[in-house]
Amino acid sequence: MKVNIHTHHRKSGERTISTLGIHPYDAEGVTTDSIFAIERTALEYDAIGEIGLDYSTNINKEAQILLFKAQLEVARHLNKGVVIHCVKAFEEVMNILSRYNLPFVIFHGFIGSPEQALRAAARGYYLSFGHRTFRSPKSIEALKVTPANLLFFETDDSTINIEQIYGQASEVLGIPVPMLECVTNENFERITNL
Ligand SMILES: [Zn+2]
Repeated sequence: MKVNIHTHHRKSGERTISTLGIHPYDAEGVTTDSIFAIERTALEYDAIGEIGLDYSTNINKEAQILLFKAQLEVARHLNKGVVIHCVKAFEEVMNILSRYNLPFVIFHGFIGSPEQALRAAARGYYLSFGHRTFRSPKSIEALKVTPANLLFFETDDSTINIEQIYGQASEVLGIPVPMLECVTNENFERITNL
């Protein structure tokens, strides 16, 4: 069974984690009540997410940071891992995350550089790669330097099959698909058996 760590189209036969959180796209107009609502229901979920910062949008940065920190507080309080959405905000996200001790951190849809991948990996953060990875030579290099014990794959909001992502990663890494499956299953079990 393949791990698809982050998908908006859950399919049977795939292993994934359930998440609850407010996306940075929705940062404007968030009330304390919506944070409390997450705090009340998040125990039933595997992780808090997608949360983070997206500086490629026009959404107010202060509002995004406030929302991100509030949800990290919830994660810390409930001892939950987090699934991070990070676009054009790597330094800020890394800086904020350094103040929180969480069971696990997964950067989903990672499209950063190999240097950024190594910095995240040095802190033990997981990196999940999806279809956007293979459109960018820089992100393909990031995939190549990611340690196996921190690796995940995902389909995110696309309707492509997770098999396609494993296939592309297998080609790029020169590692057979069954071996990649084995590695991501081990990683999956590590974060879900905490
Ligand atoms: Zn997503």
